[in-house]
Amino acid sequence: MRSIVLAIAFILSLTKIFGQVNGSNLQITRLTGDFYIYTTYNLYQGDRIPANGMYLVTSRGVVLFDSPWDTTQFQPLLDSIKLRHNQAVVLCIPTHFHDDRTAGLEFFRHQGIKTYSTVLTDELSKKTNKKRAEFLITKDTVFSIGNYSFETYYPGQGHTADNIIIWFGKQKVLYGSCLIKSVDDNDLGYLGDANKAEYAATIRKVQAKCQQPEYVIVGHGDWTNVKSLDHTLIMAEELKKKKY
Ligand SMILES: [Zn+2]
Repeated sequence: MRSIVLAIAFILSLTKIFGQVNGSNLQITRLTGDFYIYTTYNLYQGDRIPANGMYLVTSRGVVLFDSPWDTTQFQPLLDSIKLRHNQAVVLCIPTHFHDDRTAGLEFFRHQGIKTYSTVLTDELSKKTNKKRAEFLITKDTVFSIGNYSFETYYPGQGHTADNIIIWFGKQKVLYGSCLIKSVDDNDLGYLGDANKAEYAATIRKVQAKCQQPEYVIVGHGDWTNVKSLDHTLIMAEELKKKKY
């Protein structure tokens, strides 16, 4: 009996070691077509929390939406993209000023990657000592890169004062980031920089802008369920009713 227990413990420890060696600190999954979701992890209040970002492989290089949260994964992400697609990252756009979106901006800039944020994100980044982008956009902007185009959209305050979403109207991909919560989440997460009164109205604006999305990418957790948008709205309506 004892040897069986020891054997199981040994196998489990191997799984743990090799799991890490095999790059469980960075996961890349194809979303659809040339769209990929990458996930890194960080400790938050003692728990290992995943953070999702996205990248798009265009005919003129790869576009990165947000930075890895885990600061050890900037170069591994670039290396993985190069290895898989034989393409370099040319552009990176953070969706708000928090670390899980901006941590790699300086690193990427030094690699010759063009980094763009909104003016508001830049102001908040500066104020809170976060990494900042090289170039600023002053309003909602359509980017055309190779064979793709997409739009940055500021729907108003929610998770933060500066949160934007990225909308791919043709492919019906809504990159919502931390403004949108996973269907597994029971609350709206970190609200320290949130606008509790406006959150629901902001989600409604996203719904009006992004009609019938086929994919809705959330900042943390399960990104495979488009009901995340409705689920977030319900929680935001509840939040508005609460006294705070
Ligand atoms: Zn976040």
